[in-house]
Parts: sequence; structure tokens; C-alpha cells
Amino acid sequence: MSNQDVFKYCPRCSKTARLADSRKIDCPNCGFKLYLNTAAAVAAMIFDADGRLMFIRRNHDPQKGLLDLPGGFVDFNEDGETALRREVFEELGINLETVEYYRSIPNVYNYAGVLYHTLDIFFTCRAKNQPSVKPNDEIMEIVYKFPKDVSEDEIAFDSMKKLIPNFPL
Ligand SMILES: [Zn+2]
Repeated sequence: MSNQDVFKYCPRCSKTARLADSRKIDCPNCGFKLYLNTAAAVAAMIFDADGRLMFIRRNHDPQKGLLDLPGGFVDFNEDGETALRREVFEELGINLETVEYYRSIPNVYNYAGVLYHTLDIFFTCRAKNQPSVKPNDEIMEIVYKFPKDVSEDEIAFDSMKKLIPNFPL
């Protein structure tokens, strides 16, 4: 199902208002406009002392069972580094020691029938207290692997498939 099949009515006047393109509701009845903009997301590439990358195995859909990086969506009025530290603490209970911007890659994320376009912002990080990681229930297990040993079909999202097996880009 595409977003054109999901967003069919104007949120203001309830008349038919199909998506004018993949990202804009433009109501011909009342003139209401709504943009479905790219959402910012952050992901942490946390390396251990040997250079292995920390993955989380997803415990929920989308992409349950596949490898993901810790992270999530940036809140309103939040900068990327703060979002990353917040998400990593919520998911793993650890504080990041260093956070350095690495690169950004666009992605699409299907959730509950809606296709969200994101800009995934990747940071390379180190954490002081890695051994005491306490994952929450979004995470099946923690896995450490060298990036070159990970294949694309083990990885949850397209942006990470581009990045991880070829790291450092
Ligand atoms: Zn309308």
C-alpha cells in the first residue's frame, strides 16, 4: 500500500484530497496544504576496544530479528547529538563518551502502513561502560561484529546496508 492509498482525505474539511505527489496534501476544496517532510533520525556506531561495532538485534517490527544500530528519531527542538545520547541511554542504559558526526544517508521506513522518509545521521561513538549494557525490550540481543564481517541481508535498513559492510566509506 502506498501513501497515496492512506492519505485520501483533507484533515481540515474531510473532503477527498489525494496526495498531490508523494509528500504533499493539497486540498482542492478548502486550500489546506500539509507537507510530509523528511524526518531526521540518528544512529550510533559504537565501537569496542578491538574495533568491533555494536549492533542491536531488533525485537519488534519493522525488520524484527535483523541487525540495527542504536538510535531513533530526533524530537522537535532537539539537536542530533542530544537525540543520539538520549536514544542510546533509553535503549541501552549507557552514556556515550564521545560522539562524532560521520555521515548522513536517506532512508525509507514503513511503519503501520505509512511510508516515512528519513535522513539517517550516523555518528561514531565510544562508550565508557560498555560491559554493563542493559538493553530494553526493543532489543533481542546485543551483537558485536567487525563491519566487514556483516552482510547486507543481516541488516535491517537500506541506509545501513550502504554504510556498514563498506565502513569506513
Ligand atoms: Zn480541505
